[in-house]
Amino acid sequence: MNFFLDKFFQTPIQFLRSVGPSRGETLQKELQVFTYGDLILHFPFRYIDKSKFHTIREALNSENYVQIKGRIVKVEKLGKPRQQRLVARLEDDTGSVDLVWFQGVQWLEKKIQKGYEYIIFGKPNMFGNNINFSHPDIELAVEAATQNHKMLFEPVYFSTEKMKSKGLDSKGLMKIQKILHEELKLQDIAETLTQDLVLKYQFQSKKQSLLDIHFPSNLQNIEKAQHRLCFEELFYSQLQILFRRTQRINVEKGFVFKELHLFNHFYNHHLPFTLTQAQKKVIKEIRQDVLSGKVMNRLLQGDVGSGKTIVAFLSMLMAIDNGFQVCMLAPTEILAQQHFETLKDFADELKLPIALLTGSVKEKDKKNIRTALSQNVLKILVGTHAIIEDKVEFHNLGLAIIDEQHRFGVAQRAKLQEKNQSPPHILVMSATPIPRTLAMTVYGDLEVSVINELPEGRKPIITVHRYDKQRLSVFQFLRDEISKGRQVYIVYPLIEESETMDYKDLMDGFESISRAFPKPDYQVSIVHGKMKSEDKDYEMKRFLKKETQIMVATTVIEVGVNVPNASVMVIESAERFGLAQLHQLRGRVGRGSEQSYCILMTGEKLSNDGRKRIKTMCDTNDGFIISEVDLELRGPGDIQGTQQSGVIDFKIANLLRDQQLLQQARNQVVAIYESDADLSAPKHYIYKTMLQFIKKNATDWSVIA
Ligand code: ADP
Ligand code: MG
Repeated sequence: MNFFLDKFFQTPIQFLRSVGPSRGETLQKELQVFTYGDLILHFPFRYIDKSKFHTIREALNSENYVQIKGRIVKVEKLGKPRQQRLVARLEDDTGSVDLVWFQGVQWLEKKIQKGYEYIIFGKPNMFGNNINFSHPDIELAVEAATQNHKMLFEPVYFSTEKMKSKGLDSKGLMKIQKILHEELKLQDIAETLTQDLVLKYQFQSKKQSLLDIHFPSNLQNIEKAQHRLCFEELFYSQLQILFRRTQRINVEKGFVFKELHLFNHFYNHHLPFTLTQAQKKVIKEIRQDVLSGKVMNRLLQGDVGSGKTIVAFLSMLMAIDNGFQVCMLAPTEILAQQHFETLKDFADELKLPIALLTGSVKEKDKKNIRTALSQNVLKILVGTHAIIEDKVEFHNLGLAIIDEQHRFGVAQRAKLQEKNQSPPHILVMSATPIPRTLAMTVYGDLEVSVINELPEGRKPIITVHRYDKQRLSVFQFLRDEISKGRQVYIVYPLIEESETMDYKDLMDGFESISRAFPKPDYQVSIVHGKMKSEDKDYEMKRFLKKETQIMVATTVIEVGVNVPNASVMVIESAERFGLAQLHQLRGRVGRGSEQSYCILMTGEKLSNDGRKRIKTMCDTNDGFIISEVDLELRGPGDIQGTQQSGVIDFKIANLLRDQQLLQQARNQVVAIYESDADLSAPKHYIYKTMLQFIKKNATDWSVIA
């Protein structure tokens, strides 16, 4: 969100002293920082609190970042040449603790010398009974005393590997921010909240907040600046959402789906099971939307396995019964393929033409699909983002369904809606439960339906935690389950940064499993992201047809895969997965009537957060509880977390920490719209201008579709 109007903020970043063209380009590419304003919005994600020191004894009992002053009494390099780590022992009057670095060993070895006093800053790690600091900030005590005597709260900025190679690590960024800070001091900065709001909440000025957020002189400074900037960000996001919603409801006309023929026929003669009450309720809600004359923008939330696909198909029939075409988008090829197969079974019963469009479909077939689409011969199109390509044109798209929406970019969704002269109805389906606060913000302009019950006869999945050393007994358990005719998933993490190592883990795992489960008694499949999609399909099909009993995979199977006979999910290095991901993975089992199991494998060493995640998974199957814990654990200022959530790109607000502020902002915005819906009152001029400005300059992420 961009909340700047003044010219100063629009100045291209390369004009700033000490930036220049080369670093400017890096900032653009890595952080999307193009202007002074963008750089100012690159807020610190934490501060090094140099106002307080801890003793080592205090530090060992802390779960937070601490600053310690102590003497280095030992420095040594350990490990094989290529995997060396540097271990230094720090000591004070109360005890001693090890500091460990895995990177930059050569350089640190020179920097850290025995016998000298240092100041370190970091978070203590628990390894079994052992506590150490890994990669703490470290500084010679005498240097720290001379350099930073004024900066008691040092800002810490997010930066990437590429930035670091250009001297733009956190410290480098701080130097640039300091230069910009001095320039900002000389500027006249416009207020972007009305005077009555500023008075009501006793906010400090916009300018002061922007100055203090980067270089505060005390804790109160930080709090005041954060308070004002968070409120403003939440306020404008709500303003956008409500504005957009008002517009949609008042201006855009939606298609009316009055007729029901195929729908009734299918419902009465072809339903493969009795719908749950929750499924029925949701179908009624959708029915009302498509009769209302307004464009539907509905989010369908239902935990994994709750049966969203049949709801999607019945909604499709409503559109088709009225002469319209429909499409369904999935985030991956495997998922698109699976949807296609399920939906094709249904569609065939009604002799409805349906096709699959993904990146790997041959050009000739793609062409045929496009022709059939434009001539309205093809009624249902299932696929990946390939559907959004410009070349794909519908005759009249009446309904677009998006599955697992958090994987899709905002811009892509906007494009979907442009496929028609009049916007189609949109149904977004998500299995990732969303905490209430998040829903209010991200989906503030969507209606929400929830499937809150599972089909009858499902047994809750039993989840257990096992250590790597218990592997033999886990294998024995797998053999027992397989001998009962069940199938097993074994999933390995794949994190982009360490891709090569992860693949090695996967392949090693595959080999040892193949040895533990030898042919001809056992057949083992493997599926991962680097395989060709034909090969992936082939392996998936073998597993589906029960030709193989074990599927070794990376998270490509995370979403949507439906193999009801698979009843055991083993997750390797489970501590490396996020909670939402673990829950998604577990959802791949427990789809049939058999008792299902999820086994979370970890080493002995677990961080506190890792331990909590594993415990949460073992304690509950409830996706909503899991999502709340997830949000809580990721907490304020977690860069990784905000990147992963994708849809909400807040610069400073944090939906867990700022729930109350969000509610206040929303109430305020509602009050404004109630008294002055088109923002025509003179005092609301600033809001109107800002909305136009935001629309021009930033991604309008309130546009869900
Ligand atoms: P998800 O919400 O995760 O997409 P699916 O639509 O894939 O769930 O449904 C999960 C499984 O439950 C499928 O095998 C589906 O056929 C089955 N199913 C869905 N609804 C019902 C129902 N009302 N009764 C019994 N089985 C159902
Ligand atoms: Mg699904």
